[in-house]
Amino acid sequence: MEKMICTSKTSAEILLQAVNGEGLGREEIIRLLTLTDPLDIDELFKAADQVRQDYVGDEIFLRGIIEFSSYCRNNCLYCGLRRDNLEIERYRIPDDEILELARAIEARGCTTVVLQSGEDPFYTRKRLYGIISRITDETSLAVTLSLGERTYEDLHAFKAAGADRYLLRHETASRSLFASLCPGRSLDTRIECLHHLRELGYEVGSGCMVGLPGQTVEDLADDVMLIRKLNIDMVGIGPFIPHDQTPLKAHPAGDVDMVLKMVALVRLVTRDANIPSTTALGVLDKETRKRAFHAGANVFMPVFTPHSYAKDYEIYPGKGLVSSDARKTLDSYLEFFRSMGRPIGKGKGFRPGFRARTSLCNYER
Ligand code: SAH
Ligand code: SF4
Repeated sequence: MEKMICTSKTSAEILLQAVNGEGLGREEIIRLLTLTDPLDIDELFKAADQVRQDYVGDEIFLRGIIEFSSYCRNNCLYCGLRRDNLEIERYRIPDDEILELARAIEARGCTTVVLQSGEDPFYTRKRLYGIISRITDETSLAVTLSLGERTYEDLHAFKAAGADRYLLRHETASRSLFASLCPGRSLDTRIECLHHLRELGYEVGSGCMVGLPGQTVEDLADDVMLIRKLNIDMVGIGPFIPHDQTPLKAHPAGDVDMVLKMVALVRLVTRDANIPSTTALGVLDKETRKRAFHAGANVFMPVFTPHSYAKDYEIYPGKGLVSSDARKTLDSYLEFFRSMGRPIGKGKGFRPGFRARTSLCNYER
């Protein structure tokens, strides 16, 4: 049952309750998301920073991303890679080059590679099994996948090949909004896929966008509640950014300050989840991407996709540009983390409370 609402509580009292791990009800989450006084908002960030320090410590984990295919069979209304966008060049990075990039990621001190793509049927179960196995055989990297929705059998095979984690955002906890933005898909199927990942022993990543058309602060509170209910291990929260070649081109971008509040709320309710400061946040406002590390974030995901490909991986405008100065960006963040006294994580950076089931004996290659 939902927690009772106590309207007489001040935001400071609600924060104290959150820091002490007493949980937050929906109305309390809404109260914190609608704070307007900069001093109160600062207290929210401080509380999240405190919980971050207590539960995951000061280490920042680096996860290097390879965006290996921009083909997508899906038609999400918000995304520049949607299949109806005929104006972009599509690419696939050859398998050997993916391996080379994974080695470069390892050499640069990242302990995880994130393989991301559109929903591309060219990458069959067998093909991905081969790529993942080569990475786990030839490097010491943890492998995170971000490939959209796949069947249970596919996910089982990828786990057997050595994949550790999977990112699949729920995008929005509003069933009707999800259905209107993702044609042919449903929030329930997506949540079922997250359950499959959990059952198969993956660390499960999810998250949402902020600023979708028609999205309310109540919807955002429901996002926080869903993340808590599903006990998500990694949570990506980013602003929606309008793309010119999509039906949502005229809709304004999400509010970066609301993204920061969401990062803080997610830290308060999940305690020890891994939370990145997202690329989309940096595309809208570089300073805010840095501020997220004072508001609960503990993961940085540098892009390793070569610019010749990544210029065409425009999920949202500005995304492709990130790769053109990726090396400089990583250097500047490493300097920033040093200045904050936050060391780079040396291990694979699993969620402290996560216990993976490791044996999948009944998978046939
Ligand atoms: N195809 C995979 C992975 C690539 S898309 C998938 O859909 O899971 C990764 C994320 O990009 C999506 O989950 C979505 O939250 C985000 N995204 C898509 N379009 C966006 C936009 N216009 N602005 C901000 N983020 C966007
Ligand atoms: Fe495809 Fe992912 Fe973009 Fe949807 S968000 S169109 S699944 S790349």
